[in-house]
Amino acid sequence: MCQHALSRRSFFHRMAMGSLAGGSILDLAWRRAAWAQAMVPSAPTDLFEIQSVTEGVYFAFARPQAVGNCNAAIFINSADVLVVDAHSKPSAAAGLIAQIKQQVTTKPVRYLVDTHFHWDHSQGNAGYRDAFGKDLKIIASDTTKKLQAQFSQTRLRESLDPHGHPFAGQPHIPVLLEAARQQLSATGSPEQKAQIADRIRQLETFQREMQDFAPMLPTVTFGKTYVIKDKAHDLHVEFHGRAHTAGDVVVFCPQKRVVATGDMILGTLPFLGDSFPREWPKTIDSVAKLAFDHVAGGHGAVQHGRQRMTSQRNYIEDLATRVEAGKKAGQSLSEIQKSMPVASIKALQADGYGDVVRGGRDESAMQAAVNTNIEHVFNRLGQR
Ligand SMILES: [Zn+2]
Ligand SMILES: [Zn+2]
Repeated sequence: MCQHALSRRSFFHRMAMGSLAGGSILDLAWRRAAWAQAMVPSAPTDLFEIQSVTEGVYFAFARPQAVGNCNAAIFINSADVLVVDAHSKPSAAAGLIAQIKQQVTTKPVRYLVDTHFHWDHSQGNAGYRDAFGKDLKIIASDTTKKLQAQFSQTRLRESLDPHGHPFAGQPHIPVLLEAARQQLSATGSPEQKAQIADRIRQLETFQREMQDFAPMLPTVTFGKTYVIKDKAHDLHVEFHGRAHTAGDVVVFCPQKRVVATGDMILGTLPFLGDSFPREWPKTIDSVAKLAFDHVAGGHGAVQHGRQRMTSQRNYIEDLATRVEAGKKAGQSLSEIQKSMPVASIKALQADGYGDVVRGGRDESAMQAAVNTNIEHVFNRLGQR
């Protein structure tokens, strides 16, 4: 995206110089056509499904990709826009910027909030900076900025290195590419071939784009609260305690009764690899005191109401309590995992929560995913 923007700028420069120097009518017609061509946005405009949450608030639901993106929440202010979370790469951010312009508003994005430091929420920051320049504020907690500076680049490098050891939940691109290439040569079905070829193309594009990645860090940070007062509504960016990471924030709009929660409260099985499992439920309890009707999470569908949030809170508390008890009794990780089949976890059985977060998994895949959650809780309990 950065390179593209530069080449476009120099193209305009050349065009301006050319017209100053004069030229034939034919030249001018050719230049106009070329100019129009240069204005065609090259960013993909099918990565997100834009949904209306309530008046002036939108949800960009991330469609599945070989390298996933997070959802975004979009708040339309009187003269500008605030977007929550920035996806896995700058070109995905550029894609959403193009979609906002086509489908929602031509007002510029003036505020970008990184709810936390994870790769799929912050690696696209530069896409916003390229599009909106220095007027753009990138907002996060002090802790999130620190964690981005510490981990973003090193974790990404591991995920691009064929011999690397990527952090849990981060895709190991060369291994995924190799597997996809083998699948491609093994399949005979033209339809499957096309799907796998598209997957390979997406993985290669990500690999190329992120090769020289350097994180674009937040430009505005805070400890507890950052408030934007706008004619349209107020937006409160708030830290309520440690949860999915040490630095998660939510964006709460009291007038529109919407809260955007990143991966702290979401529509898929939570990821606990950087979490504070004992504190997370208490942090959700604190967020729950806010007056909202809609929850826009970092993954999965938007939630109208609070049932899924409460179920997720109870699920994390169930896991933390039982894993802690097992550890105190001297049980190993695998003993604890064996003692916790999916059917024994109350929160997964109540109010349809298990089905909400199943995400197309069969029984054994669901147990494997829960076992990963148990392993992360096991490793993270007692973290300072
Ligand atoms: Zn995350
Ligand atoms: Zn995420």
